Amino acid sequence: TKFSELGLAEPFLRSTESLGYEHATPIQAQAIPVILEGRDLVGCAQTGTGKTAAFTLPMLDLLLQKLPPKPTGPRPKPQHRKGPKGAKGANPRPRTLRALVLAPTRELSAQIGDSLKRYGKHTPLRHALVFGGVSQVPQVRTLRHGVDTLVATPGRLLDLMNQGHINLSKVDILVLDEADQMLDMGFLPDLKRIIAKVPEQRQTLMFSATMPPAIRKLAEEWLSDPVNIQV
Ligand code: AMP
Repeated sequence: TKFSELGLAEPFLRSTESLGYEHATPIQAQAIPVILEGRDLVGCAQTGTGKTAAFTLPMLDLLLQKLPPKPTGPRPKPQHRKGPKGAKGANPRPRTLRALVLAPTRELSAQIGDSLKRYGKHTPLRHALVFGGVSQVPQVRTLRHGVDTLVATPGRLLDLMNQGHINLSKVDILVLDEADQMLDMGFLPDLKRIIAKVPEQRQTLMFSATMPPAIRKLAEEWLSDPVNIQV
């Protein structure tokens, strides 16, 4: 299957083409159209199958479709304080955290962050990473500039939520990556607290390498009429 047949917008055809991806992998061919339709999804897939692109590409596409317009009107006076590059003094686009990706480890979060950067290269979408074991200061600074997507490990995310640095009330896409691993690492109580703060009206995508009964039960609880994909 060619990427151009999956319904993705032009910026994503450009980024996959420039990365040399000619054909979608099986999980991409199955998941991308389903996600673009707005359906919930349970994907049983290992790393290395192209699963990161299978959810990041359509997620970015959906975010781009609903990007809040740039405010018009007079340019605000230049401000003499440090801001993010590109937002200098000029009607910055308002950013709302609309997509949350939860992952078990710092390594996987970083990998998802790399994918967001590569696949979203031709879009104005911004993302942040939040994981434990390092200072939270730079993470909080990035969040303050505003992001469309947040990739997080559950523990650090909860810490930052409890400190008032993160508001999940506008999240309408929730991704749980390597869900089985997150359960094995004991993140279930954290996940429950986090998901309680995400609006019920949302699209939820869950990926897991294995599908033990505990994962099936959570999928039933957290997802609504999901499409099941296995590769
Ligand atoms: P993942 O399973 O998402 O971690 O992807 C594994 C690797 O495959 C990553 O290095 C991707 O850059 C690469 N990849 C993902 N999708 C494709 C594709 N359709 N064609 C070629 N390489 C891909």
